[in-house]
Amino acid sequence: MEFQNNAKWRPEKLDVRAFAQALASLSGQSPLSDWPRLAEEAQSELQAPPVSWTLRGEWVPESGAPDQVWLHLHIQATLPMLCQRCLGPVLTPIEVDRPFRFVADEDTAMALDDELEEDLLVLSREFDALALIEDEVILAVPLVPFHEVCPVPLTMTVSDPQFEAAETERPNPFAALAGLKIPPSR
Ligand SMILES: [Zn+2]
Repeated sequence: MEFQNNAKWRPEKLDVRAFAQALASLSGQSPLSDWPRLAEEAQSELQAPPVSWTLRGEWVPESGAPDQVWLHLHIQATLPMLCQRCLGPVLTPIEVDRPFRFVADEDTAMALDDELEEDLLVLSREFDALALIEDEVILAVPLVPFHEVCPVPLTMTVSDPQFEAAETERPNPFAALAGLKIPPSR
């Protein structure tokens, strides 16, 4: 695994508060084979470019309240999948751009979870950011990957009369909604 930037920060054992207070950033890239859980999601043998990621710390002092500690995560990954339209191999790009706010402990996270919209994690001096990166890419893997344009002609085409009939018979969901119009209030 290759890391740019200084060797002061170790992504697998990150002192999150110190990283945020230093407004530090760290980036790296590594082949799919370095991420065993993510590699299991691969469905075909296509050669994928390495997963590249950037972590950026942000620290927001607040008067009368604990300071805010943030980690911004940006990941670009490509996963060898199988196209669900033609069943051929396809390289599926995955991009994750997500901020996380870190709080003191589980109790604080639970208490703040209802009132804050942001994703909360618990502060650690040895936070495994690489595991977070792997988790986030796995969460973003599309359920139904497909080619933008399939390289081979499809066997079932829309000119198939039966297929076309099935398409037109499907009720339009908005037509059903139109029947539910609420009368104007008096
Ligand atoms: Zn396809």
